[in-house]
Amino acid sequence: MSMAPLQLEKLLDEKKIAARVKEMGAEITKLCKKEDLIAVCILKGSFMFYSDLIRSIDADVRTDFLGCSSYGNATKSSGEVKLTLDLTHGIQGKNVLLVEDIVDTGLTMDFITKTLQARNPKRLITASLLFKPKALKVDFKPDYVGFEVGNEFVVGYGLDYQGYYRNLPYIAQVTSMQ
Ligand code: 5GP
Repeated sequence: MSMAPLQLEKLLDEKKIAARVKEMGAEITKLCKKEDLIAVCILKGSFMFYSDLIRSIDADVRTDFLGCSSYGNATKSSGEVKLTLDLTHGIQGKNVLLVEDIVDTGLTMDFITKTLQARNPKRLITASLLFKPKALKVDFKPDYVGFEVGNEFVVGYGLDYQGYYRNLPYIAQVTSMQ
């Protein structure tokens, strides 16, 4: 069964995304000063941003993946978060970069950063492609933000609606949901 198409409006095109991701990679490179870095992809939404970002980081990067899902309906998170896949390697004493697609209420990243801080990394830094400052419910701000957006629901470049639209090469705002 395929889904009824949503009405979309392009918000950020490929060129704009690519340029900003490159800038973020350069900033993170400066910060690591060639130290080892474990870059953690928070599944699933950040896989596309992650793969572009790590290619823009000029440091000794190792990759790892963290599965995370929040209970709730398609467009609203309930704030209850669970890990669905844990990291393969320990992070104690390591520099860790957490890579997220979007920070909305902040509850997901608040949960993940607290969970990983308890494992005593040397340093934990966070990068999110998108940030919705008006939706924030907890005191969490990513160290690196690609773009600030409003409260609109967005899809594409890894972000989904019911599992669809992740393969759009750009980011679009959903203008109507049937
Ligand atoms: P938070 O816990 O910060 O409220 O939400 C984080 C998660 O909610 C994101 O990782 C993402 O999966 C989902 N989310 C929040 N806003 C959007 C949005 O505008 N579009 C999509 N596709 N997912 C979103």
